[in-house]
Amino acid sequence: MPIRADLPDYHTHTWRCGHASGRAADYVDAARRFGLPGIGISDHLPLPDYPDPSVCMPEDDLDDYVDEVLELKTRFPGFVLLGIEADYLPNRVNDLRSLLEAYPFDYVIGSVHFLDDWGFDNEAQIEEFSRRDIDEIYVRYYRLIGEAAETGLFTIIGHLDLVKKFGHRPRSNLSQVIETALTCIARSGAVLEINTAGLRKPVHEIYPEIAVLQRARALGVPITFGSDAHTPREVGFAFAEAKELARLAGYEAWVRLIPQTKARARVELHSF
Ligand code: ZN
Ligand code: FE
Ligand code: FE
Ligand code: ZN
Repeated sequence: MPIRADLPDYHTHTWRCGHASGRAADYVDAARRFGLPGIGISDHLPLPDYPDPSVCMPEDDLDDYVDEVLELKTRFPGFVLLGIEADYLPNRVNDLRSLLEAYPFDYVIGSVHFLDDWGFDNEAQIEEFSRRDIDEIYVRYYRLIGEAAETGLFTIIGHLDLVKKFGHRPRSNLSQVIETALTCIARSGAVLEINTAGLRKPVHEIYPEIAVLQRARALGVPITFGSDAHTPREVGFAFAEAKELARLAGYEAWVRLIPQTKARARVELHSF
């Protein structure tokens, strides 16, 4: 089998979230078969009191999830990392902080999937786009991204322009709003994710778009790569394309996360 990617994939989901397939071990197998230099498992952290079981892992599963990935991490040292994808919900920051502190995550991907209680990236809730002003959606989305970074809770900011997922574009120029969000990310020391899932969605584009990535590069924000795989065969998906995009945006290095014994992973820069 040819090597699919020479970069680690830090964004993968498992059956536990209710909308992905495969166990953590299957993702690790896939990463080894595809020749990746490492993999992080980052399933959806349980949302507080969320009624829909197909959105994130159930609260009762979190201990088992952590144990399962830690076991793989022991079996494949230096190859497997314990991650988690956490939603940024502005009025639940303290709950999130204590939940994250209770587990030895190597890294936390911070994602915005909700504007108030609207899950804007959820296909079942897509009609809401036609009820709201698209520019307002974008502005509020990027504000939440900036706030999320400022909490300092996140190692990686996930799929930065996810709001474009179904192809809705802003009408006005939002470069100032985006610049503000990126400045928050730069100041927080978080890493920005290049996420290839958008290529599998109606927008058919990597997150974030090149113009955003160029500004991130100018502000000195480092990058990781994530497939957002929801099935093992998507591990390392389109990483060649993602790497090409990073280089076009001016990036010369990517981040490898180095696990620490009693703290979150350390960021280590590697040249392409
Ligand atoms: Zn998911
Ligand atoms: Fe996400
Ligand atoms: Fe994800
Ligand atoms: Zn995601």
